[in-house]
Amino acid sequence: MNTLNADLHCHSTASDGTLPPGEVVRRAHANGVELLALTDHDELLGLPEAAAQAQALGLRFVPGVEISVSWLDQTLHIVGLGIDPTNEALIAGLAQVRGGRDGRAARIGAELERIGIRGALEGALRYAGNPALVSRAHFARYLVEIGISKNVHDVFLHYLARGKPGYVEHVWATLEDALSWIKGAGGLAVIAHPGRYRLSHAEMDILFERFRDLGGDAIEVSCGAHDGGQLLAFARLARKFGLMASRASDFHGPEDSPIDLGRAPPLPPDLTPVWTRLA
Ligand code: AMP
Ligand code: MN
Ligand code: MN
Ligand code: MN
Repeated sequence: MNTLNADLHCHSTASDGTLPPGEVVRRAHANGVELLALTDHDELLGLPEAAAQAQALGLRFVPGVEISVSWLDQTLHIVGLGIDPTNEALIAGLAQVRGGRDGRAARIGAELERIGIRGALEGALRYAGNPALVSRAHFARYLVEIGISKNVHDVFLHYLARGKPGYVEHVWATLEDALSWIKGAGGLAVIAHPGRYRLSHAEMDILFERFRDLGGDAIEVSCGAHDGGQLLAFARLARKFGLMASRASDFHGPEDSPIDLGRAPPLPPDLTPVWTRLA
């Protein structure tokens, strides 16, 4: 059960991935993935193409989404798996979250302009496969293109992370709303890449408890953002809070990801994989 090659979090050009949905599915299949979820940021647009390609290849596919959430002073990402993409409250909620991105992108462009980087908004938009979904990842690719930094990681380090000149504060969905949209659409809710959040141990405990109380189901124990120590630490927290575990590459594209589709490490054998609850 825990040895299934499941990859339950990745991106396409419907958000900030570099491959179209059908290509993501073909690559996952070629990599030996047995169960795949496409989880674009705040967006369901890529799901029909991905589902059709998966069906053509005989690959098990789960519709998903990754919702941007503001909690305490942090941005968290909550993945919804097995959601009904026709659910009206989910569709309306995601439209509202996406709606804030245009103004935010304009503010990021203005901040970069202030430090002498011209045309970043237009440049980012050229990288955005979906104009409704401009992400910092698109800004990062443009800044690499014009030689500001040598890679996307360095752009985040010096320009786009919190406290850096191109970072702007933004308010996303509430944790409560994200959970209600996912659960209301029949999905399972997963805390994405918990190792990336700057939370104390006490705050992490509060988050997991609140998440579980709101009906949350699982945490990403194995993911591209975690090292071996983090995998073990979050496995312990999954046991402590009685949450299931997910496995995810968070693949964004061949050049843009620490690990490829289907290549996240296996889950510890005693944890319950979230896919045992996916049809
Ligand atoms: P946004 O939703 O616009 O804030 O953009 C967040 C996206 O930027 C994430 O989903 C990643 O794709 C990317 N990202 C965030 N931090 C980093 C980083 N340190 N290095 C590379 N990509 C990052
Ligand atoms: Mn992303
Ligand atoms: Mn994320
Ligand atoms: Mn992601």
